[in-house]
Amino acid sequence: MYGHGEVMQKKPNRIILVALTATVLAFLSLQMWQEAYASSRRIGITVAVREDRIAVDLVSPGMPAERAGLRHGDIILAVDGVPVHSGVDYDELASGFRRGRPVPFTIERQGRRLILPLRPGTPFPWLQALMNLVVTLAYLAIALLAYPYGRTDVRARLLAAFSGAVALELSIPNGALMSFVFSLSGTVFFYALTGIQMGLLLHLASVIPSEPPVLKKRPWIPYTFYGIGLTAATVICTSLITEALGHNVLPWPSGYLSGPLFDVLMSIWAVAVIAILTFQVIRSSSRSERAQALLVLIGLLPWAIFTLSTEIVPALGYALPDWLTVVQLFVLLPYPIAVFLAIQRHRLFDIELVVRRSILYSTITIILMALFYAAMGLGGMVLADALGKRSLSVWLISGATLVIGLLFWPLRQAIQEIIDRRVFPERHALRTRLASLAANLPAKGSLDAMGRHLVDELTRTFGLSSAALLVADPSTDILVAQASNLREGGIPVEHSVIMGPDDPAVRFLAEAGRPLQASQLAAISGSMAQRLATFQANLASPLLSGDRVVGVLLLGAKADGEPWRREELELLRLFSLNVAAVLENVRLFQSATFEGLTGLYRREAILEILEGEINRSVRYGRPLTVAMADIDHFKRVNDELGHLAGDAVLRHIANVLKTHLRNSDSVGRYGGEEFLVVLPETFEPDGIDVAEKLRRAVASKGFPLEGGQQIAVTISFGLTSIQPEPGEPEPPTAESLISAADANLLRAKRQGRNRVVSDSHSN
Ligand code: GH3
Ligand code: MG
Ligand code: MG
Repeated sequence: MYGHGEVMQKKPNRIILVALTATVLAFLSLQMWQEAYASSRRIGITVAVREDRIAVDLVSPGMPAERAGLRHGDIILAVDGVPVHSGVDYDELASGFRRGRPVPFTIERQGRRLILPLRPGTPFPWLQALMNLVVTLAYLAIALLAYPYGRTDVRARLLAAFSGAVALELSIPNGALMSFVFSLSGTVFFYALTGIQMGLLLHLASVIPSEPPVLKKRPWIPYTFYGIGLTAATVICTSLITEALGHNVLPWPSGYLSGPLFDVLMSIWAVAVIAILTFQVIRSSSRSERAQALLVLIGLLPWAIFTLSTEIVPALGYALPDWLTVVQLFVLLPYPIAVFLAIQRHRLFDIELVVRRSILYSTITIILMALFYAAMGLGGMVLADALGKRSLSVWLISGATLVIGLLFWPLRQAIQEIIDRRVFPERHALRTRLASLAANLPAKGSLDAMGRHLVDELTRTFGLSSAALLVADPSTDILVAQASNLREGGIPVEHSVIMGPDDPAVRFLAEAGRPLQASQLAAISGSMAQRLATFQANLASPLLSGDRVVGVLLLGAKADGEPWRREELELLRLFSLNVAAVLENVRLFQSATFEGLTGLYRREAILEILEGEINRSVRYGRPLTVAMADIDHFKRVNDELGHLAGDAVLRHIANVLKTHLRNSDSVGRYGGEEFLVVLPETFEPDGIDVAEKLRRAVASKGFPLEGGQQIAVTISFGLTSIQPEPGEPEPPTAESLISAADANLLRAKRQGRNRVVSDSHSN
């Protein structure tokens, strides 16, 4: 479900979406028109057909039938003088009615024949029509929202299909009082859609929030769901159509199938859906998954309870209460709202933040506008009535339209602000945090310090188990581990060679230009798979300068076990671009000035600094001290612990030297394990103090080995100092100073190492 495809977004096929939307909207307008047509011909009764007689069942109060004196139990014999024997007969006659034009109804009441003049026409059912419109559009919206994610996420696919089917079903024009073919096709369409929905909803419930192991083991289960739903639909539709054609092929009448049998099936369906979702809620381990399943369950409960109670209550011999017809309008609405919340708040599927936000802004803006409009319209009507001026409401509505037009954008902006702060505070914080992390990196100075800071901050920001930074060597482009906060495995991972630039996984990262799942890269390259495992990486983000891989960020799994979200991946991509730019700068500068292993000045750079300081010292007659340092018995370290450990010791000592020097002092890597220290404005005694301080710092620290052990490392210093007189005939040179310092270093080694020897002083 969170597989490779998740980060690879594909363009959805829009034709299906457009077709669905167009059909639903066309059906809805047809439905409205049909409702207006039917309401102008309705008289406000329900009937019961017994053999070939039509008996009046319920008479709605205040409607034309009641006003004309029709009562429960009356038998309708003829309408407008034409005999009526069936519902079809009645519908045909009713299609000739006109609102308000009297029609004589011939009825039989207690054996007597009466002729009642009826004026057809009931008010247009605004509330029902409006509710139906809202509910249908809500389902359509969920279908449109889920559809683009259907390619990679089976839940989104099912959600889109189910919601689309419900939207279609709700928009089917009701064929009442219309031609028989019209109303039959509506009915057949309804049963077909319901059959499909049965399979879809059961399948959907069993994969939200994820597929349970039971289903993985028995992949035929969903097919059974569809099988049952489609079989029921086919049987009912066949019986309806064949019966309409005059020869029923089934032993039972269609009314039995589409009546009691269908009701039982619906009840079983409702119970099954609720049972599966309850099981899913109990089974879910993570909080957001539980919330997803729970929301869908809550959304479907009203529908399930309604379906069950309309089945059970009449079966127990009670009449259904009147208010149930009103409730019916509301039971379908919680589901799209709950699913919307599950998408918005609990990431039912991973919609990008941008899309989620703009959906929310637009929805809220439109609702506010509609409320405002309705208030103005209503107010206008009331006011116009009160003042007796009909034209006033027209002016008010026009005024409202103008105000809305002017206010739309400012209002949307204001809503956007509020939503950003209220609904997405953590996203907002993440964005600013990453931006400031990238902006503050250069201030860390050396690549080492930057790498460490970067790795630590990323770990903290995303709550990761680990993170690592690989940096490409400027000359070879080979990726080398620069920093990692992984403290396991017992190998010094820093500075070990990781990947060549021609590794297929590295090339894939460069082409993708965005973070990729570790599993995706591991599938391409075996050696990458190995490195990713070493660093326990879950995600790799390329640091690209143009199309060159300057480095790679390897990020471990999130501590809370949550997957990476689309919006986080997008933020990470932008962040990686910033880091790459910083890194490229540092690397270019560093490659010329600093040395890769220790982060100290290169030999050439420190010599240049030395020459500059000698010039200054000669010109102004200022003191200058130079020290040459050499690690004692370094060969042993290499021999006993290996070259990699030797490198780590070198870096460790370089760090000690760096941190114990003043800003005005400089230290460079002069040879393999030899360091040149330049101390401007320093007389010999002070220089000895500085060197002693460095020597003690190295000797006292010891180098930590894996497993808590320490090895003792010491370092020897050879010092030389000058304070030239201006105009001296043979001014000192870098060469002469270095050889003097070297000579003293040799004396230090001879005298037993771990000591400082200067021109006038040795201990
Ligand atoms: P001492 O200076 O106390 O006389 O003994 P030593 O063992 O340190 O002798 P010397 O300074 O002559 O040896 C230098 C050794 O340092 C040789 C080489 O193996 C090692 N070395 C030099 N550069 C590096 C490096 O970059 N990494 C590692 N691991 N070892 C280095
Ligand atoms: Mg040496
Ligand atoms: Mg040495």
